[in-house]
Amino acid sequence: MMHDVVEIKPVEEPARKKTQGRIQISDVSVKFGKGEKQHLAVSNTNLTIESGEFVCILGPSGCGKSTLLNTVAGYVQPTQGKVTVDGERVTKPGPERGMVFQQYSLLPWKSVFDNIAFGPRMAGKSKDEASALANTFLSLVGLTKFANRFPSELSGGMQQRVGIARALANYPSVLLMDEPFGALDSQTRFMMQENLLSIWKEFGITVLFITHDVDEAVFLADRVLLMSASPGQIIGDLSIPIDRPRSPEIIADKTYIEKRTQCLSLIRKESLRAFEEQNV
Ligand code: ADP
Ligand code: MG
Repeated sequence: MMHDVVEIKPVEEPARKKTQGRIQISDVSVKFGKGEKQHLAVSNTNLTIESGEFVCILGPSGCGKSTLLNTVAGYVQPTQGKVTVDGERVTKPGPERGMVFQQYSLLPWKSVFDNIAFGPRMAGKSKDEASALANTFLSLVGLTKFANRFPSELSGGMQQRVGIARALANYPSVLLMDEPFGALDSQTRFMMQENLLSIWKEFGITVLFITHDVDEAVFLADRVLLMSASPGQIIGDLSIPIDRPRSPEIIADKTYIEKRTQCLSLIRKESLRAFEEQNV
Protein backbone atom coordinates (compact mmCIF):
# COMPACT_ATOMS: atom_id res chain seq x y z
CA MET A 1 0.00 0.00 0.00
CA MET A 2 1.23 3.46 -0.86
CA HIS A 3 1.57 6.08 1.87
CA ASP A 4 -1.17 8.65 1.81
CA VAL A 5 0.20 11.91 0.61
CA VAL A 6 0.75 13.95 3.73
CA GLU A 7 0.56 17.67 3.60
CA ILE A 8 4.02 18.89 4.47
CA LYS A 9 4.17 21.83 6.79
CA PRO A 10 7.52 23.56 6.95
CA VAL A 11 9.43 22.63 10.09
CA GLU A 12 10.98 25.49 11.97
CA GLU A 13 14.58 24.92 12.86
CA PRO A 14 15.15 25.81 16.51
CA ALA A 15 17.08 29.04 16.81
CA ARG A 16 20.72 28.21 17.40
CA LYS A 17 22.71 30.14 19.92
CA LYS A 18 26.20 31.16 18.96
CA THR A 19 27.61 29.17 21.86
CA GLN A 20 25.91 25.91 20.92
CA GLY A 21 27.92 22.80 20.24
CA ARG A 22 31.00 23.72 22.28
CA ILE A 23 32.69 20.54 23.48
CA GLN A 24 35.02 20.46 26.44
CA ILE A 25 37.00 17.34 27.30
CA SER A 26 38.75 17.83 30.64
CA ASP A 27 41.46 15.48 31.85
CA VAL A 28 39.63 12.44 30.47
CA SER A 29 40.98 8.92 30.89
CA VAL A 30 39.19 5.71 30.02
CA LYS A 31 40.30 2.35 31.39
CA PHE A 32 38.76 -0.92 30.32
CA GLY A 33 38.93 -4.19 32.25
CA LYS A 34 40.32 -4.99 35.65
CA GLY A 35 43.59 -6.17 37.20
CA GLU A 36 46.19 -7.55 34.79
CA LYS A 37 43.82 -7.19 31.87
CA GLN A 38 43.34 -3.49 32.52
CA HIS A 39 43.82 -1.36 29.45
CA LEU A 40 44.20 2.40 29.30
CA ALA A 41 42.39 3.32 26.08
CA VAL A 42 42.42 7.11 26.52
CA SER A 43 44.92 8.90 28.72
CA ASN A 44 44.61 12.36 30.36
CA THR A 45 43.08 14.08 27.39
CA ASN A 46 42.24 17.78 27.37
CA LEU A 47 40.49 19.33 24.44
CA THR A 48 38.18 22.21 23.61
CA ILE A 49 36.24 22.25 20.37
CA GLU A 50 34.55 25.53 19.55
CA SER A 51 31.01 25.97 18.34
CA GLY A 52 30.80 25.31 14.60
CA GLU A 53 34.31 23.92 14.24
CA PHE A 54 35.01 20.95 11.97
CA VAL A 55 37.59 18.84 13.79
CA CYS A 56 39.09 15.56 12.60
CA ILE A 57 40.76 13.11 14.94
CA LEU A 58 43.37 11.14 13.08
CA GLY A 59 45.11 8.10 14.48
CA PRO A 60 46.03 4.46 13.93
CA SER A 61 43.59 1.65 14.51
CA GLY A 62 43.16 0.75 18.19
CA CYS A 63 44.54 4.05 19.55
CA GLY A 64 41.30 5.00 21.30
CA LYS A 65 39.56 7.24 18.75
CA SER A 66 36.16 5.58 19.06
CA THR A 67 36.47 5.46 22.83
CA LEU A 68 37.16 9.20 23.00
CA LEU A 69 34.26 9.96 20.63
CA ASN A 70 31.99 7.70 22.66
CA THR A 71 32.69 9.73 25.80
CA VAL A 72 31.27 12.75 23.95
CA ALA A 73 28.35 10.70 22.62
CA GLY A 74 27.66 9.43 26.14
CA TYR A 75 28.07 5.73 25.34
CA VAL A 76 31.27 5.44 27.41
CA GLN A 77 31.80 7.06 30.81
CA PRO A 78 35.29 8.38 31.50
CA THR A 79 37.06 6.68 34.42
CA GLN A 80 38.59 10.06 35.17
CA GLY A 81 37.75 13.62 34.16
CA LYS A 82 34.62 14.85 32.41
CA VAL A 83 33.09 15.87 29.12
CA THR A 84 30.74 18.82 28.80
CA VAL A 85 28.77 20.13 25.84
CA ASP A 86 27.70 23.75 26.25
CA GLY A 87 28.61 23.49 29.90
CA GLU A 88 26.40 20.47 30.57
CA ARG A 89 28.10 17.31 31.72
CA VAL A 90 27.61 14.37 29.35
CA THR A 91 26.31 11.28 31.15
CA LYS A 92 24.27 9.60 28.42
CA PRO A 93 23.43 9.93 24.73
CA GLY A 94 21.12 12.80 23.75
CA PRO A 95 19.44 14.16 20.62
CA GLU A 96 21.60 17.31 20.67
CA ARG A 97 24.57 15.03 19.89
CA GLY A 98 23.93 13.19 16.61
CA MET A 99 26.03 10.13 15.94
CA VAL A 100 26.98 8.52 12.64
CA PHE A 101 28.66 5.14 13.01
CA GLN A 102 31.14 3.34 10.80
CA GLN A 103 28.73 0.46 10.31
CA TYR A 104 25.49 1.62 8.84
CA SER A 105 23.40 1.16 11.92
CA LEU A 106 19.95 1.66 10.44
CA LEU A 107 16.96 -0.28 11.64
CA PRO A 108 16.70 -3.01 8.99
CA TRP A 109 12.98 -3.64 9.44
CA LYS A 110 12.04 0.00 8.91
CA SER A 111 11.89 1.87 5.61
CA VAL A 112 14.38 4.64 4.90
CA PHE A 113 11.64 7.16 5.61
CA ASP A 114 10.73 5.58 8.95
CA ASN A 115 14.38 5.31 9.96
CA ILE A 116 14.66 9.09 9.69
CA ALA A 117 11.25 9.85 11.22
CA PHE A 118 11.99 7.55 14.18
CA GLY A 119 14.22 9.98 16.14
CA PRO A 120 11.82 12.94 15.95
CA ARG A 121 8.93 10.61 16.93
CA MET A 122 10.93 9.41 19.95
CA ALA A 123 11.59 13.04 20.83
CA GLY A 124 7.83 13.57 21.04
CA LYS A 125 7.12 15.14 17.64
CA SER A 126 3.71 14.49 16.06
CA LYS A 127 3.43 12.08 13.14
CA ASP A 128 3.04 14.98 10.70
CA GLU A 129 6.01 16.87 12.09
CA ALA A 130 8.18 13.76 12.00
CA SER A 131 7.10 13.10 8.40
CA ALA A 132 7.93 16.65 7.40
CA LEU A 133 11.36 16.30 8.98
CA ALA A 134 11.97 12.97 7.26
CA ASN A 135 11.07 14.54 3.90
CA THR A 136 13.27 17.57 4.51
CA PHE A 137 16.30 15.48 5.39
CA LEU A 138 15.76 12.84 2.73
CA SER A 139 15.82 15.59 0.15
CA LEU A 140 18.91 17.13 1.76
CA VAL A 141 20.86 13.91 1.17
CA GLY A 142 19.28 13.38 -2.25
CA LEU A 143 17.32 10.23 -1.42
CA THR A 144 13.71 11.35 -1.82
CA LYS A 145 13.09 8.66 -4.42
CA PHE A 146 14.23 5.95 -2.04
CA ALA A 147 11.93 6.81 0.87
CA ASN A 148 10.06 3.52 0.79
CA ARG A 149 13.06 1.25 0.33
CA PHE A 150 14.56 -0.81 3.11
CA PRO A 151 18.19 -0.28 4.14
CA SER A 152 19.27 -3.62 2.66
CA GLU A 153 18.07 -2.40 -0.74
CA LEU A 154 20.52 0.52 -0.76
CA SER A 155 24.23 0.80 -1.51
CA GLY A 156 26.68 1.49 1.34
CA GLY A 157 26.97 5.16 0.38
CA MET A 158 23.21 5.59 0.32
CA GLN A 159 22.83 3.88 3.69
CA GLN A 160 25.37 6.24 5.13
CA ARG A 161 23.47 9.22 3.69
CA VAL A 162 20.39 7.91 5.49
CA GLY A 163 22.54 7.66 8.64
CA ILE A 164 23.50 11.32 8.28
CA ALA A 165 19.90 12.39 7.57
CA ARG A 166 18.75 10.44 10.61
CA ALA A 167 21.30 12.15 12.86
CA LEU A 168 20.41 15.62 11.48
CA ALA A 169 16.65 15.15 11.83
CA ASN A 170 16.99 15.90 15.55
CA TYR A 171 18.71 19.21 14.75
CA PRO A 172 21.76 18.35 16.84
CA SER A 173 24.28 21.03 17.78
CA VAL A 174 27.07 18.45 17.51
CA LEU A 175 27.55 15.78 14.86
CA LEU A 176 29.83 12.91 15.91
CA MET A 177 31.11 10.75 13.09
CA ASP A 178 33.13 7.58 13.60
CA GLU A 179 34.96 6.71 10.37
CA PRO A 180 31.67 7.13 8.54
CA PHE A 181 33.10 6.75 5.04
CA GLY A 182 35.71 4.10 5.86
CA ALA A 183 33.86 1.29 4.14
CA LEU A 184 33.04 3.19 0.94
CA ASP A 185 34.84 3.07 -2.40
CA SER A 186 36.97 6.13 -3.05
CA GLN A 187 34.67 7.78 -5.58
CA THR A 188 31.67 7.52 -3.30
CA ARG A 189 33.83 8.72 -0.43
CA PHE A 190 34.83 11.93 -2.28
CA MET A 191 31.21 12.64 -3.06
CA MET A 192 30.16 12.04 0.54
CA GLN A 193 32.93 14.32 1.82
CA GLU A 194 31.79 17.19 -0.38
CA ASN A 195 28.16 16.55 0.53
CA LEU A 196 29.07 16.61 4.23
CA LEU A 197 30.94 19.90 3.90
CA SER A 198 27.94 21.58 2.30
CA ILE A 199 25.64 20.22 5.01
CA TRP A 200 28.04 21.45 7.70
CA LYS A 201 28.12 24.90 6.10
CA GLU A 202 24.35 25.08 5.89
CA PHE A 203 23.73 23.99 9.49
CA GLY A 204 26.72 25.60 11.16
CA ILE A 205 27.02 22.67 13.56
CA THR A 206 30.11 21.40 15.31
CA VAL A 207 31.50 18.27 13.67
CA LEU A 208 33.86 15.84 15.37
CA PHE A 209 34.95 13.37 12.73
CA ILE A 210 37.17 10.35 13.19
CA THR A 211 39.33 8.90 10.47
CA HIS A 212 42.59 7.08 9.95
CA ASP A 213 42.97 8.66 6.51
CA VAL A 214 45.32 11.67 6.35
CA ASP A 215 43.85 13.01 3.11
CA GLU A 216 40.32 12.80 4.41
CA ALA A 217 41.29 14.67 7.59
CA VAL A 218 43.15 17.49 5.82
CA PHE A 219 40.45 17.87 3.17
CA LEU A 220 37.61 18.19 5.66
CA ALA A 221 38.91 19.81 8.80
CA ASP A 222 39.51 23.24 10.26
CA ARG A 223 41.71 21.43 12.70
CA VAL A 224 43.32 17.99 12.72
CA LEU A 225 44.10 16.34 16.04
CA LEU A 226 46.61 13.53 15.93
CA MET A 227 46.17 10.71 18.39
CA SER A 228 49.05 8.46 19.42
CA ALA A 229 49.04 4.70 19.67
CA SER A 230 48.04 3.40 23.07
CA PRO A 231 47.61 4.84 25.54
CA GLY A 232 45.62 7.20 23.36
CA GLN A 233 46.65 10.82 23.70
CA ILE A 234 46.45 13.89 21.49
CA ILE A 235 50.00 14.48 20.25
CA GLY A 236 49.38 17.09 17.58
CA ASP A 237 46.90 19.88 16.92
CA LEU A 238 47.22 21.35 13.42
CA SER A 239 45.02 24.09 12.04
CA ILE A 240 44.19 23.76 8.33
CA PRO A 241 43.93 27.32 6.99
CA ILE A 242 42.59 26.46 3.55
CA ASP A 243 39.71 28.52 2.10
CA ARG A 244 36.24 27.11 1.78
CA PRO A 245 34.34 25.88 -0.08
CA ARG A 246 36.94 23.22 -0.79
CA SER A 247 36.95 21.04 -3.83
CA PRO A 248 39.03 17.91 -4.52
CA GLU A 249 41.48 20.12 -6.47
CA ILE A 250 42.95 21.38 -3.20
CA ILE A 251 45.23 18.35 -3.16
CA ALA A 252 47.48 20.47 -5.40
CA ASP A 253 47.32 23.43 -3.00
CA LYS A 254 50.60 24.41 -1.30
CA THR A 255 49.08 24.60 2.20
CA TYR A 256 47.34 21.27 1.68
CA ILE A 257 50.60 19.57 0.77
CA GLU A 258 52.39 21.20 3.69
CA LYS A 259 49.75 20.13 6.25
CA ARG A 260 49.53 16.63 4.82
CA THR A 261 53.31 16.28 5.07
CA GLN A 262 53.27 17.55 8.67
CA CYS A 263 50.63 14.96 9.60
CA LEU A 264 52.52 12.16 7.93
CA SER A 265 55.80 13.04 9.60
CA LEU A 266 54.15 13.23 13.04
CA ILE A 267 52.55 9.85 12.43
CA ARG A 268 55.87 8.42 11.30
CA LYS A 269 57.68 9.73 14.37
CA GLU A 270 54.99 8.28 16.60
CA SER A 271 55.04 4.86 14.90
CA LEU A 272 58.82 4.71 15.27
CA ARG A 273 58.52 5.53 18.96
CA ALA A 274 55.90 2.82 19.46
CA PHE A 275 58.02 0.35 17.50
CA GLU A 276 61.12 1.08 19.57
CA GLU A 277 59.14 0.75 22.80
CA GLN A 278 57.99 -2.71 21.74
CA ASN A 279 61.58 -3.72 21.11
CA VAL A 280 63.29 -2.76 24.38
P1 ADP B 1 40.10 3.01 17.59
O1 ADP B 1 38.72 3.51 17.43
O2 ADP B 1 41.14 4.07 17.57
O3 ADP B 1 40.42 1.93 16.62
P2 ADP B 1 39.07 2.03 20.12
O4 ADP B 1 38.70 3.25 20.85
O5 ADP B 1 37.97 1.26 19.51
O6 ADP B 1 40.21 2.36 19.06
O7 ADP B 1 39.83 1.06 21.12
C1 ADP B 1 40.95 1.46 21.89
C2 ADP B 1 41.41 0.29 22.72
O8 ADP B 1 40.45 0.01 23.74
C3 ADP B 1 41.59 -1.01 21.94
O9 ADP B 1 42.71 -1.68 22.46
C4 ADP B 1 40.30 -1.75 22.21
O10 ADP B 1 40.52 -3.14 22.13
C5 ADP B 1 39.97 -1.33 23.63
N1 ADP B 1 38.52 -1.31 23.86
C6 ADP B 1 37.61 -0.56 23.22
N2 ADP B 1 36.36 -0.74 23.71
C7 ADP B 1 36.50 -1.66 24.71
C8 ADP B 1 35.58 -2.28 25.62
N3 ADP B 1 34.27 -1.98 25.61
N4 ADP B 1 36.08 -3.17 26.50
C9 ADP B 1 37.40 -3.46 26.54
N5 ADP B 1 38.31 -2.92 25.71
C10 ADP B 1 37.88 -2.03 24.81
MG1 MG C 1 37.25 3.00 16.00
